Amino acid sequence: MKIKQKKNIFLIKIVMIFFLVIFLVWFFANRQKPVLTGGMSFTNIEITTTAKAEPTQESTLSPNETIQAAVLMYHHTGDLPEGADDIRKGLTVSGKTFDSEMKKLKDGGYNVMTLNELYNKISTGVPDKAVVLTFDDGYDDNSTVAEPILQKYGFHGTFFIITGKVGMAEYMSEDQIKDLAKAGNEIGSHTVHHIDLSTVQGTTLNNEIKDSKTYLEKLTGLTVETFCYPSGKFSDEAKADLLRDGYKIAVTTEASKGVFSTGDLFEIPRYRVNPGSSLSFLGK
Ligand SMILES: [Zn+2]
Repeated sequence: MKIKQKKNIFLIKIVMIFFLVIFLVWFFANRQKPVLTGGMSFTNIEITTTAKAEPTQESTLSPNETIQAAVLMYHHTGDLPEGADDIRKGLTVSGKTFDSEMKKLKDGGYNVMTLNELYNKISTGVPDKAVVLTFDDGYDDNSTVAEPILQKYGFHGTFFIITGKVGMAEYMSEDQIKDLAKAGNEIGSHTVHHIDLSTVQGTTLNNEIKDSKTYLEKLTGLTVETFCYPSGKFSDEAKADLLRDGYKIAVTTEASKGVFSTGDLFEIPRYRVNPGSSLSFLGK
């Protein structure tokens, strides 16, 4: 009996060790390493939290690949108010001009897509003559003037909203933003207060990036993955925050040459569309 008991204890020990080894192998095999999404190549940014930085899916983007796409930057689309100053004039393209520009894109065979669509095409192949139409600040003439023209030509735009200004004079209401989203347009974040992101850090910076995303996602029911830096100003910390909070791509006000690298997806340059530009920068 004694020998049998000893034998049983020995067997139990062997079984326990066996399961412990199996568990340890499983544990180390499943431990996820933090991976950056979006073909990013930040060399000087430290991602502090691994849990938040983990991607929802592995990036399939090749690093530092050159992408040809023209990202256009609009602000106001409509008539000028009485007594408009030079800044307001410089930010405004009339409805008539906007229509003729969209016609030019249509007739010229341009592939107009949202910023998110462009991002998604990077891994599979961006078509020739790719154009993205972006609208900064969330002005109400984007909804009343630009959107009907976009619909007429079958185009969709990317509208960057300053969430703290929604519903104010000259800015879109919540319903207007919801309607834009329902019509197939993309809604991106342009912070809460439109502050210079290169001058703020920590919670103040993160609130601008995160709260605007949360608000717009709740409003539209869609995921917000694109971002526009106010006045094009940013810092390494801002870029790291964007990445951590689930953004995939961000635009600046840097002048575009029609190309960008997949290594710089958080610094996409744009063509500023001036009142009289007639999109001449696109060529014929
Ligand atoms: Zn702005």
